[in-house]
Amino acid sequence: MKIFCVGRNYAEHAAELGNDVPQEPVIFMKPKSALLQSHIPFYYPEFTNELHYECELVLRICKNGKYIQEKFAGKYYDSITAGIDFTARDIQNELKSKGLPWEKAKAWDNSAVVGKWIPISKFPNRKNINFCLYKNKELVQQGNSGNMIFSFDQIISHISQYFSLNIGDLVFTGTPAGVGEVVVSDELEAFVEDDSVLLLNIK
Ligand code: MG
Repeated sequence: MKIFCVGRNYAEHAAELGNDVPQEPVIFMKPKSALLQSHIPFYYPEFTNELHYECELVLRICKNGKYIQEKFAGKYYDSITAGIDFTARDIQNELKSKGLPWEKAKAWDNSAVVGKWIPISKFPNRKNINFCLYKNKELVQQGNSGNMIFSFDQIISHISQYFSLNIGDLVFTGTPAGVGEVVVSDELEAFVEDDSVLLLNIK
């Protein structure tokens, strides 16, 4: 199982971190060990002093493929949820400033959290799916798939030009504006439309 993530897929989020809007999808990966298993608590990692949440729509791949054309990409994922791409922002900023890879900031154990899966068939328009994140009951992020720079199908097609996609792979599709810090004892709750899909306490 592979976890693909898209960076800078919402213009306002690219701007809030001082990044340019990309001309093609920014793709990075997390290993299988990054996926937080359900019923395992999430612990604040020791190596960071600036842990950020990034709430994102996540797709689950249901069909093996490579070199997938955009017009067929919609057949390759069948479930969606919201997830958190946890980021050690202090480490990421240091690595970025040196032009070094991001893994230590993004791909550590349990840095990828996903919510309850919803069949994608429940959403007649995949370019109009709302999601949001509450921190301690306060709304902190709000997104809509229609505001993504690269659509689900463009992302799937692009990834598959480089990497084979396999059943069970996950794709984090990027975070909207409003990323921020969490500390121990914070509570995060993510929604897809009105459905609460994820509830997480930082231990
Ligand atoms: Mg992200």
